Amino acid sequence: MYVLALDQGTTSSRAILFDAEGRIVSIGQFEFAQHFPNPGWVEHDPNEIWSTQFRAAKLALEKAGVSASQLAAIGITNQRETTVVWDRQTGEPIYPAIVWQSRQTSSLCEDLRARGLQDEVRTRTGLVIDAYFSATKLRFILDAVPGAQARAERGELAFGTIDSWLLHRLTAGRVHATEYSNASRTMLYNIHKLEWDELLLRELNIPRAILPSVQDSSSIFAHTDSSLFGVEVPIAGMAGDQQAALFGQGCVTPGSAKNTYGTGCFLLLNTGDCAPVSRSGLITTLAWGLDGKVTYALEGSVFVAGAALQWLRDGLKLIGHAAESHAVAMSVPNTGGVYLVPAFVGLGAPYWDEQARGAIVGITRGTTREHLVRAALESIAYQTRDVVDCLRADSGLALDVLRVDGGACQNDFLMQFQADLLGAPVRRPGILEVTALGAARLAGRAVGFWKESDSPTALRTGSQDFVPKMEHSQREMLFARWKKAVERSRSWEV
Ligand code: ADP
Repeated sequence: MYVLALDQGTTSSRAILFDAEGRIVSIGQFEFAQHFPNPGWVEHDPNEIWSTQFRAAKLALEKAGVSASQLAAIGITNQRETTVVWDRQTGEPIYPAIVWQSRQTSSLCEDLRARGLQDEVRTRTGLVIDAYFSATKLRFILDAVPGAQARAERGELAFGTIDSWLLHRLTAGRVHATEYSNASRTMLYNIHKLEWDELLLRELNIPRAILPSVQDSSSIFAHTDSSLFGVEVPIAGMAGDQQAALFGQGCVTPGSAKNTYGTGCFLLLNTGDCAPVSRSGLITTLAWGLDGKVTYALEGSVFVAGAALQWLRDGLKLIGHAAESHAVAMSVPNTGGVYLVPAFVGLGAPYWDEQARGAIVGITRGTTREHLVRAALESIAYQTRDVVDCLRADSGLALDVLRVDGGACQNDFLMQFQADLLGAPVRRPGILEVTALGAARLAGRAVGFWKESDSPTALRTGSQDFVPKMEHSQREMLFARWKKAVERSRSWEV
């Protein structure tokens, strides 16, 4: 028997088949289109998200020669916050999916701040008011589509993050549900009372009838409709991608942390049953719900990490593919004093500056393509150092080792520079698909396929440590200049 993880990311939909040992058997993957209808806006087609995800699932099974009847369970992990609204009757989305990175609701956030709601939002949801979270995206869709508010009030529309959207399609529209980690990213969910927040729903004029039910991350949500795979497979685990990675990395005890280097960079620290309030710009979030009990986490969310490489590839055409950045960066001893601040969609933690925009500073006549590429990679490490400093300040923990995963952590230059900049070792596991592994483990445990104590072989073998080699004075000098570069990018769009 096997467990299939559906990993619905920002740039591609993947399906990964795991065997009983937690080893990867096969992977199906399809990229899908990114739409940028206006500066700062990012949208996806929900139907394309579904079709690529379904095809990826079929492909993973086909490649392995495994039939759906051999699946013990399906787990879902997803790009978080991205918002879909669909018609309950037809199942059709009424608007494109507004992606987590999208800034199209900045003015709605401005309005919420002007109404003095910052403290209410922070104490109820653990979040800061930002266009990143789902609440204002949902408000935007209900305003943008004529008649949508009234239809939502009549219970004709459904709102969901991508987990709910996939669940809806996997069950042929029968089930409308989410789980704690995704709910905690909506800016509508009270993470202490564990319910949709009355006051915030009222302030944003969101009808209750549009919201999904919320359940444990590791529990049976539904069975797939038999029209899809020929048999009904239990969908037994769901979690937002960053929380799934935390689970997949085995960070199940308070005090353990991981950083995922994907489109963005997300550092999460497990804080157990305590929901600390950050004083330095991190957010508090729900990690998961298991057996009727929730776990909290502190999070540093960086919006643009690997996406900076995509920009070098697609926007500037400086590199052919992301992996090439390694050799290019290594071909120069340093960036020649160049700093790239990839504030393409504003800045997330710890700055939370919606008005910031990208900047390249320190350019001289001697600046080359190689310097720029290296500066882009280094910017990922600098942004991580920013949030690690906050985490150290908030938690008082030294963070002896940083566990890493995600597409960009394959870059050895980046990992070494990260260790140098943190002055702490960086540990890369033998398996890079920990997000999918987390979703699979959540699903597998709910159906009794795996026990809590089972540690997948794949996690234990082949891990690599990068140890810091840079002098303390050099590290701090470089980091001080980064801080100066960040200042240059701030409050740009006014
Ligand atoms: P997501 O789940 O957010 O779509 P992934 O974890 O799949 O992201 O990682 C993809 C990101 O990693 C892309 O933004 C890509 O530019 C970046 N990336 C992939 N390989 C490398 C590499 N070798 N060096 C640097 N960045 C990379």
